[in-house]
Amino acid sequence: MAEFEFFKVIQGYLDQAAKACDLPKHVALILSQPKNEIIVHFPVRMDNGEVRLFKGYRIQHNNMLGPFKGGIRYHENVTLDDTKALAAMMTWKCALMDIPFGGGKGGVKFNPRELSSGELMRVTRRFTHALGANIGPEYDIPAPDVGTNGQIMAWMMDTYMNTVGHVEKNAQKRVVTGKSIAVGGSNGREKATAQGLIHCVTEWAREKSFPLEGKTAIIQGFGNVGGHTGLLLSKLGVSTIAVGDHSGYLYNPEGFNPHKLMDHVKRTGAIAGYEGGQPVTREEFFAVKADLFAPCALENQVGVDEAKMLQVRLVAEGANGPTTPDGENILLQRGIDILPDVLANAGGVTVSYYEWIQNKRSETWELEEVDARLETAMKRAYHRTRNFAREHGTSMRVAAYGLALQKLSANYKERDIFP
Ligand code: NAP
Repeated sequence: MAEFEFFKVIQGYLDQAAKACDLPKHVALILSQPKNEIIVHFPVRMDNGEVRLFKGYRIQHNNMLGPFKGGIRYHENVTLDDTKALAAMMTWKCALMDIPFGGGKGGVKFNPRELSSGELMRVTRRFTHALGANIGPEYDIPAPDVGTNGQIMAWMMDTYMNTVGHVEKNAQKRVVTGKSIAVGGSNGREKATAQGLIHCVTEWAREKSFPLEGKTAIIQGFGNVGGHTGLLLSKLGVSTIAVGDHSGYLYNPEGFNPHKLMDHVKRTGAIAGYEGGQPVTREEFFAVKADLFAPCALENQVGVDEAKMLQVRLVAEGANGPTTPDGENILLQRGIDILPDVLANAGGVTVSYYEWIQNKRSETWELEEVDARLETAMKRAYHRTRNFAREHGTSMRVAAYGLALQKLSANYKERDIFP
């Protein structure tokens, strides 16, 4: 694959959107770099008694609209530049969704699959401690991303709570979102990213007069976002006929049972060894004829080659940055629509915001209420993005950036630069 510089790619879209919405030069300049880049090194005692040093990042891109907000990634390929790109995307996402949060992202560079549960807990607690006052319920609010989950958020919350003193302790729950429900998480948060994606897909299908019942999908990545996307698609009568993760790719023309496949992934950590499908190569996966493709793994997965191979009508980006700019050009030339990440996977941060409000008010909302609010928010964002794209003659991706920039720009205009 061609070299992929994630932060430069995001900067390229920022430049295009800045032109489309006449963004003042100084606002584009401010948004071209994160406000803070925090790098920490922290020691953890491993099960064998040895001490290992870990490298962690927290990038705080922008907090004009509210506290920094964004996931924590545990992955061996975490880098400063990628984390900067992901943090900037959180700024656009929150602004697009009209959520009073800014953008942030964090990560620790290691392979979580190689650690025991006890080691994972100690990495999480030491990372949280190393970040110290750089996070906080009104300042910077982490959430799950690749390699992290509700359990890891519960450990982060507990560690943070224990650093602030007895009196303040219980007001800190909302220092992280995406927590397990038992410790203050929200109903509907676990599936929220996939649910938001599905709302975009259904709006797209309605506009295109493309009934989804009986259609087929292929999904790359079968973790939180990919797995729930498979489940929710099956409820719409769309069968998933090919899936893939780091362990390989599987094909089943009859359609996978997403519940069983998710159970298998939860038990074994990967799709490999699942008996309900035949192994195929990555190239064969991308060439499977289907109606929808949901990339739900990592960035830089759909380059020129993959874009030429895909035989679908729609690419709905559950992952952040899965399509390269060259890949996108080819998809669009071939008449394949794209629901871009900043819009399509914004359901996660939207329900994270609902979780944060519930914690702040000591409330618990029913699943139906969370789902209804998310549906309204996603459909509104979809239509606003589509309208911007039509009015300004841009792609849906540049439109999503453009709307976010308009909102940020209005704030910079009124508040101006301090001092
Ligand atoms: P996750 O639960 O850790 O799942 C990641 C999936 O990607 C796993 O199935 C993983 O497979 C697969 N994967 C990893 N490396 C791969 C590779 N080289 N080739 C193919 N598959 C690979 O993470 P997630 O939370 O679903 O996040 C997935 C994407 O969605 C990321 O881009 C993330 O930033 C984005 N996102 C997540 C949220 C959220 O709420 N969680 C919100 C917005 C956006 P293995 O487990 O086998 O490695």
